Amino acid sequence: MRILLVEDDALLGDGIRAGLELATYAVDWVRSGEQALLALAGHSYDACILDLGLPGKDGLAVLKEARRGGDRTPVLVLTARDTPEDKIGGLDAGADDYLGKPFDLGELQARIRALVRRASGLARPVLEHRGVTLDPATKRVSCEEREVLLSAREYAVLYDLLSHPNHIRSRSQLEESLYPWGDERGSNTVEVYIHHLRKKLGADFIRTVRGFGYQLGGGE
Ligand code: CA
Repeated sequence: MRILLVEDDALLGDGIRAGLELATYAVDWVRSGEQALLALAGHSYDACILDLGLPGKDGLAVLKEARRGGDRTPVLVLTARDTPEDKIGGLDAGADDYLGKPFDLGELQARIRALVRRASGLARPVLEHRGVTLDPATKRVSCEEREVLLSAREYAVLYDLLSHPNHIRSRSQLEESLYPWGDERGSNTVEVYIHHLRKKLGADFIRTVRGFGYQLGGGE
C-alpha cells in the first residue's frame, strides 16, 4: 500500500510517516501543493493524507484541481481549520474523510485503513481468501486458523493482493506499494516475496499470470 502524505510541518509529517511505515505502508512525503499535484499525476496511491494549510497552493486548491483532472485517489483531509464550514468545503471539494488537528495517530491509521478498504470495494475489515485472513488493524495473518509470521514486505505484498482480489497486479504495481521514492530496491525482490508467501501459504495461493503479474489463486 502506497500513501501520499502532504504536510508542510516537519515534526508532524515525520511522526505521521514513521507511524505509517511501521504499519508497513510505503509513504511518499511532499511539503507543498505543487509537489502534491506532481506526485498524484505521476503515481497511483492507495490513499492521500492532505493538509489544508500549505505554503503556495493550499490543500483545498490541490484537491479541487486533482478531482477536476479525474484523480480518484481516496483523500483524507487533515487540518487545524475544523469549523463546520471548513469540513463542508473539504468534503464538497472531493475529500473522502476529514480529521481535525490535533489528532491521535491511531485514529488516523484506522481512518486510512477504512479509506483503503472502501476504495477496494470491500466492506469487511478483515481480508480473507481461501482460508488465509489478514487483519490490517492488528497486522495478524493466519492460514486455516494458524498464525503465520511474515516479514514486513511479505505482509505488504499480501495486503496489496488481498485488497485487489479480482485484479492482476503487475510487478511494478507491487513494487510501488512496497517502496517509497528514493528507497533502494533490488531487481527480483517482488519475486522473492511471492516465493516466500507461497512457501508459507501454499504454492497455488498466488498465481503467476505470464506477461502480466500476479493474482490470488482461484477456487474457494
Ligand atoms: Ca500546514
